[in-house]
Amino acid sequence: MKIVIVGSGYVGLVTGACFSEVGIDVTCVDIDQKKIENLNNGIIPIYEPGLEDMIVRNMKKGRLNFTTKIQEALEGAEVLFISVGTPPDEDGSADLKYVVAVARDCGKYMNDYMLIVTKSTVPVGTSKKVRQAVKEELDKRNASIEFDVASNPEFLKEGAAINDFLKPDRIVVGLDTPRAEDLMKSLYKPFTLNGHPIIFMDIVSAEMTKYAANSMLATKISFINDIANLCEIVGADINKVRKGIGSDSRIGTKFIYPGIGYGGSCFPKDVQALIRTASEHNYDLKVLQAVEAVNKNQKLVLFNKIYNYFDGDLKGKTIGIWGLSFKPQTDDMREAPSLSIINNLLEHGAIVKTYDPVAMQEAKHHFGDSITYFEDQYEALIDADCLAILTEWPEFKFPNFKIMQKLLNKSAVFDGRNIYDKEEMKKDGFEYYCIGVNTSE
Ligand code: NAD
Repeated sequence: MKIVIVGSGYVGLVTGACFSEVGIDVTCVDIDQKKIENLNNGIIPIYEPGLEDMIVRNMKKGRLNFTTKIQEALEGAEVLFISVGTPPDEDGSADLKYVVAVARDCGKYMNDYMLIVTKSTVPVGTSKKVRQAVKEELDKRNASIEFDVASNPEFLKEGAAINDFLKPDRIVVGLDTPRAEDLMKSLYKPFTLNGHPIIFMDIVSAEMTKYAANSMLATKISFINDIANLCEIVGADINKVRKGIGSDSRIGTKFIYPGIGYGGSCFPKDVQALIRTASEHNYDLKVLQAVEAVNKNQKLVLFNKIYNYFDGDLKGKTIGIWGLSFKPQTDDMREAPSLSIINNLLEHGAIVKTYDPVAMQEAKHHFGDSITYFEDQYEALIDADCLAILTEWPEFKFPNFKIMQKLLNKSAVFDGRNIYDKEEMKKDGFEYYCIGVNTSE
């Protein structure tokens, strides 16, 4: 089978690489000429564990190709995946111009039956817009070519994307014809054969499933952060409370870690978009509005602790920062809490020294030379007045505390991810601040 994937970002590249890995003939398309040029030279634009090897291996086998020319890519293909970005519009709704542009291109250039599958996260009702855009383009050239549309939202997590794609908890597919169902069944057979379930439903429900899933996860994060803040006030320890509630199988242990708020390219925009969809239908999604408000506040909790520690005077204070990406194992900084925290530090006159294992190149796009970047985590602590941990990269979990003590001017550590033990930090002579634990006693 030959398929085309339009949009070669995180989702498109992982989807393309994984389908080619199981033997499918894949062409990935993007409008970004430089990106495609690089990919054709084996240069991968994003950091995702295992992705580079998989792409290079399948390119060599001739099963994975990259091009900017959608017309050529469509030759002989039966399925087209749309995996372009759906960034938030000014009012919070998902901007569908890239998705509709791909649908138009498809209508312009397809010469035979095509199943057009939306993998991008799109609001309920988008498939109708895709169908209409394709039809309008076909009508313009008086072509009567059959096509189907389907929704196949992607649930991969950056940092574990390959594993998530190859071994999904579930594959959700929304469609409305037997032909589309047969195609999707055979395309995903290599994955479902291993016991990973595929759930077929109508298109609207599939579109809704993606938003409901991300909103549920964001809700868990904001809930635990809200409870963490209260723990701190009343003298409870969120680390203990988390274990206490997580052992109830109805609640579970996953996604109830306190921190400095959710970020990334999905949760913030998807929560916003679902609130917007609801309001367009005159429905008030009160829970999600609160989830968003709590998250906004949470991104500043660690900054406020640093600010208070220095009695509101950050001018000339040097803050060492470990971790810039919105979570470990990715260089993605979209909506990362580090952006709010560093911007606030800079606005208050602080000097910021940073280290991240993979996101520093990306950070340079945001901060240029207003902060400094170090290739070694300890170098970022030289002459620093404190350390702030913003991403829980594994290499930060067991650092050399003696070196940290030696390098820091004041042994103050602000841990936005609760990766250290309060008692041990105190024993080692640190002033330690984390989330949801009153560490002053
Ligand atoms: P991305 O920004 O990394 O990549 C999008 C790509 O689409 C870019 O390379 C861009 O140049 C290209 N593009 C835009 N218009 C195009 C066009 N007309 N023709 C060809 N290429 C075009 O985005 P992403 O993170 O891969 O996300 C894509 C979609 O998948 C979004 O809707 C997102 O919400 C959803 N999603 C993302 C993730 C994630 O973890 N990143 C997970 C699940 C779902």
